[in-house]
Amino acid sequence: MAQIRIDNLRKDFGKFTAVQSSTFTVEDGEFFMLLGPSGCGKTTTLRMMAGLELPTMGTVHIDGEEVSQKPASQRDIAFVFQMFALYPHMNVGRNIAYPLLSQGMPRAEAKARVMDVAKVLGIEAILDRPVGGLSGGDRQRVALGRAIVRRPKAFLMDEPLGALDAEFREHMAEELRALHDRMRATTVYVTHDQLEAMQMGDKIVVMNHGVVEQFGIPQDIYDWPATMFVADFIGSPSMNFLPFEGVVEKGADHVRLGDCNLSVPVQREGAQGALVLGVRPEHVHLDADAPYRAQVQATEYLGTTQIVSLKAPHGAIKARLPAAMPIRAGEMAGLRFDPRTITLFRAETGRALR
Ligand code: ATP
Repeated sequence: MAQIRIDNLRKDFGKFTAVQSSTFTVEDGEFFMLLGPSGCGKTTTLRMMAGLELPTMGTVHIDGEEVSQKPASQRDIAFVFQMFALYPHMNVGRNIAYPLLSQGMPRAEAKARVMDVAKVLGIEAILDRPVGGLSGGDRQRVALGRAIVRRPKAFLMDEPLGALDAEFREHMAEELRALHDRMRATTVYVTHDQLEAMQMGDKIVVMNHGVVEQFGIPQDIYDWPATMFVADFIGSPSMNFLPFEGVVEKGADHVRLGDCNLSVPVQREGAQGALVLGVRPEHVHLDADAPYRAQVQATEYLGTTQIVSLKAPHGAIKARLPAAMPIRAGEMAGLRFDPRTITLFRAETGRALR
């Protein structure tokens, strides 16, 4: 098993910088997500971990040993691609055994290792079957089997479920996570799907334009976004942003939003000028007595909850409220924001005040 440490890692392709000065550590045994929109540099980061791409600057350490300039073959980590390519002319067992036999492992030993892997994946019964007729799920399991049979120090996966339809994808995501919980092998997993990252990851790195925006456990990233980008990218509907001009003193636990004095978490950092108040839809409550007033524009019924769109003095707000609550378009409502869950940002930099 392995710890993977990335320090000030950078990759330039000609004049274009795909990854800028990334620093984070994947601890031994973690299921670690690299999350961000298309083109943000996730795959390039993963390829530098694997040794498929060499960094322009910075270092990669695996278990304390610097491997930055070493080729993939000397890093003992398995790269699982989106397209699981199997050898069509070999049966399931041979496909899984292939990496061992090609390394020269004796047949009996390889067979025992394949059996172990087949048990972990629940595919003992199909070892003699040709891969051609397998279901999508079994093909994925065989491909995973081939990756884990070598017992590499770590797995690197680039959108491994990207090509699957939504329902099957969710099922395979659960299986992958369960497999990880049994094996506890260090896994780095690239995805652009924030829900997948939140559900599967022990830790998440959120990237944007080649820059690490935030690195932490899913709850902290959701509750304490470091930037407006992270706050917007994680969660659906995303965080509400209310821009305002104001002053926040150090140690303040209130801000003035227009005529209203709103409670916020204690600010260790002061700021003034163009600010943004961020609050998640599930932390916006209706309260007839609340002085912050907004007009209901529309409601969207979701079964147990409804998403209510409102027009407030500082912009549009979405609230997630119980579906049974009677709310009609056009009516005026008082809004109360759960103070513990408010984040204040500097408008210019998009960075959160702490
Ligand atoms: P996606 O989810 O779309 O794959 P990503 O976040 O994984 O996105 P990367 O594949 O790391 O992003 O690409 C980051 C940027 O670097 C992109 O703008 C891409 O076009 C560019 N890039 C990647 N590889 C190369 C290359 N070999 N030569 C030039 N530019 C590249």
